[in-house]
Amino acid sequence: MPRGYEDLGEYELNCPNCHIHILSIIKAAESSQIQKFQVICPKCKDESFITTVTGEVYVGSTNEEFVIVDITTSVVESPSWYPGSLNEEKTYLKHKIEVSYENSK
Ligand SMILES: [Zn+2]
Repeated sequence: MPRGYEDLGEYELNCPNCHIHILSIIKAAESSQIQKFQVICPKCKDESFITTVTGEVYVGSTNEEFVIVDITTSVVESPSWYPGSLNEEKTYLKHKIEVSYENSK
């Protein structure tokens, strides 16, 4: 946990297929930033459900078997006419997290 941050809640990213816990996202500071996280399962390559966190976060592997390889971040803006988007969700950051599975341990 970086200095100056506090633990405001933990969000788990799990594989819906393998039923394994892959990563945890710790909300570390309040802000209006909406962030959506999705992790690719290192075992079956399936994608986890999308977890939405509003605020600043700390992403970490809780299991040393899983190592973060890459995080691809994109800014998503819903068109203003899009009826399904809540106002506060019109612009958000989407993070796609790739992890590798260290099978040797
Ligand atoms: Zn899986």
